[in-house]
Amino acid sequence: MEKKFVYADYAATAPVSDEVLKIMLPYFTESFGNPSGVHRASRMAAKAVAESRRKIAAAIGADYSEIYFTSGGTEADNWAIKCTSGGIVTTNVEHKAVLNSCKIRGNTTYLSADREGFVSAAQVEKAINQDTSMVSVICANNEIGTVMPIEEIGQICREKGVVFHTDAVQAIGNIPIDVRKMKFDMLSCSGHKIGAPKGVGFLYVRKGTNLEAFIHGGSQEFGFRAGTENVPAIVGLGEAVKLACERVTENAEYTRKLRDRLIDGLMQIPDARLNGSRENRLCGNVNVSFADVESEAVLLMLDSAGICASGGSACTTGDDKPSHVLTAIGVEEKYLSGTVRFTLSYRNTADEVDYIIEKTAETVEKLRKIRGI
Ligand SMILES: *Cc1c(COP(=O)(O)O)cnc(C)c1O
Repeated sequence: MEKKFVYADYAATAPVSDEVLKIMLPYFTESFGNPSGVHRASRMAAKAVAESRRKIAAAIGADYSEIYFTSGGTEADNWAIKCTSGGIVTTNVEHKAVLNSCKIRGNTTYLSADREGFVSAAQVEKAINQDTSMVSVICANNEIGTVMPIEEIGQICREKGVVFHTDAVQAIGNIPIDVRKMKFDMLSCSGHKIGAPKGVGFLYVRKGTNLEAFIHGGSQEFGFRAGTENVPAIVGLGEAVKLACERVTENAEYTRKLRDRLIDGLMQIPDARLNGSRENRLCGNVNVSFADVESEAVLLMLDSAGICASGGSACTTGDDKPSHVLTAIGVEEKYLSGTVRFTLSYRNTADEVDYIIEKTAETVEKLRKIRGI
């Protein structure tokens, strides 16, 4: 019998899709030029980078000159946060790329999310003062999937004349993004969560927003982000963003059904709880806690059944502190260490979901029995 392989960790990373790989390949070999030169090989590469920038701008409602390529979501977040002077208002449920950047620069106010992971526009409004220059709120949470009231927060920031940055790494491809409508001034995106390779992403910066260079050297990226462009990855990113945005409604509808099937199935397990919001939740996110089990043990047993899932957050594996997001939303002690995150995508099927439910129920029961529960 063929060994089962069910991947349910798409918030950690996704494979490069066939369409994206295909469009990238020539830029490793025949079209290998450095975009900064004047000859034909350079021109070909420069044209490809420009074409990718154009595709991304069109997909999110931005202008060509507002897209800056980076090495990924982490760099985009670091850039936005560290190159801002004045006070920052953020939340206690941000990705570590934002939280640790804020920690290094200081002068930051952390808003407390509620039990479902939301921060309200009213909280943001109250926290903004004379010194505030930026508000940074994650668009959709990578751990618990909570989708923030981002348009209302954007509205407040615009009224107050404060720069609004959002980490949209998990949002792109899962919810429709229009930077003008949503009043974003800055937005971070990563390639590898949406079918482009790892190590590439972009920062959107609205025209007129004060921007300082983050990486110094040559004059790439309009003089703001030095270093020879990762041409194949940038080409892949352009195609991945285009496809993710074109297919967002269709993919989200399909994935949402699988997500609800998985939530309903897992909630049949005794003493299980869903973390985050049931309504305003990413279409592929299922974050559940089981009392009286250790998530590490659940993950290992699921892995031996061919199922890939994660605990609190992939970024904190190897760190045995409980996830800062679960702590921030006040998950009780008895559930905290038994948290498992499944993140689905359009690539999953209903059969896979049923298999996950069956194996998770079995695993939790087995582990509780060992403990005599
Ligand atoms: C994955 C992720 C990042 C980091 O992106 P990389 O490209 O892996 O550096 C940042 N923010 C969120 C919300 C993420 O899920």
